[in-house]
Amino acid sequence: MSDFNKDFGEYKKDLDKASKDENINRALGRAVKSYRENTDAALAKYPHTLALAEEVRGIKDYSMENNKQLLDQAMKVIESNHGKAFYAEDREAAIRIANEIIGTGKVIVKGKSMLGEELKLREGLEEAGNEVWETDLGEFILQLKKDRPMHILSPAIHVPREQVAEIFSKFFNKEVPPDIAEEVAVVREFLREKYFTADVGISGANVVAADTGQIVIIENEGNVRLCTGAPPVHIAIVGIEKLVPTFLDAMKTAEVTWRYANYGAPGYVNIISGPSKTGDIEKVTTYGAHGPKEFYVIFVDNGRSKMMADKNYRQALHCLRCGGCMYECPVFQVTAGHFGRTYLSGIGSVWESFVDSVDAAAPMLYTCLRCGRCVERCPMKIEVPTMVGKLRSEVVSDDTE
Ligand code: SF4
Repeated sequence: MSDFNKDFGEYKKDLDKASKDENINRALGRAVKSYRENTDAALAKYPHTLALAEEVRGIKDYSMENNKQLLDQAMKVIESNHGKAFYAEDREAAIRIANEIIGTGKVIVKGKSMLGEELKLREGLEEAGNEVWETDLGEFILQLKKDRPMHILSPAIHVPREQVAEIFSKFFNKEVPPDIAEEVAVVREFLREKYFTADVGISGANVVAADTGQIVIIENEGNVRLCTGAPPVHIAIVGIEKLVPTFLDAMKTAEVTWRYANYGAPGYVNIISGPSKTGDIEKVTTYGAHGPKEFYVIFVDNGRSKMMADKNYRQALHCLRCGGCMYECPVFQVTAGHFGRTYLSGIGSVWESFVDSVDAAAPMLYTCLRCGRCVERCPMKIEVPTMVGKLRSEVVSDDTE
């Protein structure tokens, strides 16, 4: 497992080892082929996507320029929708706010969230004495394996079915065969009980509409529906860069995201505006009908406003986390998530420079080949090679001070 607390030499050895790992090579070879075929087919089937992506680039430009105003607007609207909105400047604040809402001794079901990985959210909630279950299948496998995601959308891309069977057999204390349908079924049965007994559900968000306060979450498995719908409390944890001005902007952004994320149309698009409510008895509004009674949104900065303030790097915040660039990256294709920490590949090296530090991201910045293949695939046309070059010069200037 890659860890930048090791020195650069160790990191290089880790990359070399990963490049010779047959599981990674086989899994990535299949994934790249299928990503390209599926995405190209989806773009041919929905040809308006290219023009829509261009429109979303404009929406993102405006949103970064006006982020503070959008954040204020969204927070007010969420409160008027009977939710509660918070702003967390960094990891410590985000974990503290979440733990103040949740308390201790609670059962939590959690959907996949890159921000959650960035903040080490599960660990922060567990340290406060809570039981936390990842509900995305890939994340669940990694939770049991004590491993970290190797792709932002397919976190367990490097774990073949045979290894999954071993992990599940040990955890469930029964023989689980290396059959994907049976592996999925055993997790479904286990988590079903957790959804309906959990005290809290946690999700991320793909995009947030500032005018309506609605959060949008794209998924395929249906686990997010259950996490955000079954427990009595729902907490959404969201990076401030996810804000766009209007609901229509949010829908456009969501469509471009899922199209480039390899889904023609995703299984589910969740749109959440506040707690569950009913007015069916005497027209008296009562909260917590079938869904959560309480709804909280924690907007997290953690280096994002610094990125926004710098015109050289602001564009990195346009990233939709579609994962497309990773399949095109020649280094990622042979090393998977070993080229990265929370955020992966070239775009990840820019993100790590801000959510952590340029020095911490230096090994990644020098792994990127700056070949530009990522820019070709990226719906936001993010100029990663230029940013990586600029950040490298900052590493050097830091060293020479
Ligand atoms: S940099 Fe572009 S291609 Fe890569 S994940 Fe972000 S939006 Fe997708």
